Amino acid sequence: MDSIAAVRSRDAIAFSVLDSEVRLAILDSLYERTVASGPLAGNAAYSTIQADVGVEDSGRFSYHLDKLTDQFVTKTESGYRLAEPGREVIRLRRTGVFTADPTLEPEPVDGECYLCGAGLRALYRRGYLVTRCPDCVGLIDHELVDDGTLASVSYPPSGVTGVDIQTAFERSHRRSAHTFRAMSAGFCPNCGHDVTATLPPADGDRPGDDGYGFRHVNHDGMVRFACDHCGCRHISHPLYATDDREPMATFFTRNGIAPGWERIAAVMPWSVTVAGADLVFETPDGVRFRVGDDLDVRRE
Ligand SMILES: [Zn+2]
Ligand SMILES: [Zn+2]
Repeated sequence: MDSIAAVRSRDAIAFSVLDSEVRLAILDSLYERTVASGPLAGNAAYSTIQADVGVEDSGRFSYHLDKLTDQFVTKTESGYRLAEPGREVIRLRRTGVFTADPTLEPEPVDGECYLCGAGLRALYRRGYLVTRCPDCVGLIDHELVDDGTLASVSYPPSGVTGVDIQTAFERSHRRSAHTFRAMSAGFCPNCGHDVTATLPPADGDRPGDDGYGFRHVNHDGMVRFACDHCGCRHISHPLYATDDREPMATFFTRNGIAPGWERIAAVMPWSVTVAGADLVFETPDGVRFRVGDDLDVRRE
């Protein structure tokens, strides 16, 4: 395995290759010519890319194209195409995470606070889509988070640009549901490495000393997910994070509870008790779900 220093050095070179508007324009041209048209990439001719980019000096243009070739761009017999790292660069740029910093003030969205019943507000700030209750203390207790915060989901600026807040609210929760499902199945959807799931410490045990997590959440039944490779960390409700598996999948479907916020609002108020290493949740109708530390859920 390469040392961190060796990887860092290669990453620095890769980033420096992108430090050119002409080269980013070449990637944009290749995207428009070879990717946007469909899932199977075609080729673009040298002269086509050069015309798109608008650099008439052939020596200068080929200097920049050469810098990208092999790593971000693939040269073929009939032209050029975007390699996967080149596509990743385009995707990242289009999310706006590097340069866009939109702020959306709180606006009403459909749904009620599961703690007090007040109408929900959604806002967007510093890369997070925040779901907030205007009337109560909320779920998250942290100095970086305003009172009333019920959920705070990392979401790209592109998700709230040209998209109304109601739609962004719904999509951000649907998107994080996918993340939680993968992490509850044991892997990180961002990097593919193993994920550790931790249930709250039993009474009397000290919480982990990593400083992250349970003490910032006003709920005794949450699960913490941690990927030790890329640093992806999330806190979720275990019955929400397993909503695509039995017995939860059938429960939600039978009761007509839609994926996303509706499912969060359904499970969060359920009572929770610690039973040994397990958590036992009970619905208002007396249905009980037992969650083991391997996130196996059994209906009792
Ligand atoms: Zn509330
Ligand atoms: Zn990861």
